[in-house]
Amino acid sequence: MADLTVTGDIIASVHYKGTLPENGDVFDSSEGREPLTFLVGHKQMIPGFEEEIMGAKVGETREFTLSAERAYGERDDTAVLEIPRAQFAQLEEEASLEVGMQLVAQMPHGPSPFTITALTEEAVTADFNHTLAGQALTFSVEIVELREASDDEISHGHAHGPDGHHH
Ligand code: ZN
Repeated sequence: MADLTVTGDIIASVHYKGTLPENGDVFDSSEGREPLTFLVGHKQMIPGFEEEIMGAKVGETREFTLSAERAYGERDDTAVLEIPRAQFAQLEEEASLEVGMQLVAQMPHGPSPFTITALTEEAVTADFNHTLAGQALTFSVEIVELREASDDEISHGHAHGPDGHHH
């Protein structure tokens, strides 16, 4: 096998840790889990993440900080909506709403996650921005495994498991 490096149409398996540069808080990590496996160059990952590991070999670790623009994008104030609380009546029979709670709305274009940022008797303020939008993010990424993608994986635009089946 040739010495592969991270490039388009490669299946990369990585261990990673994501922290917030201002305080070092860990927002996501693959520690204690299987490595994250993805098809490089098919928009499975945020853009800066792939750009910063391009050319890396198995065993290599890279650390980098992405601006918000290269991570989950800037915050969009028009993505914060006030929804009449009556629309949550059915849900409130089973669970009480709280600020900070994350829910998923069924929108015409598909499921959209949001965070409750304020609550009154009449309205729920729903923030549809990604929870990490507007933030610079630091990653430490270790390349665990690299392999050539199959034709199926490239045409589907995602990595398949070891048995070739869909996840
Ligand atoms: Zn597939």
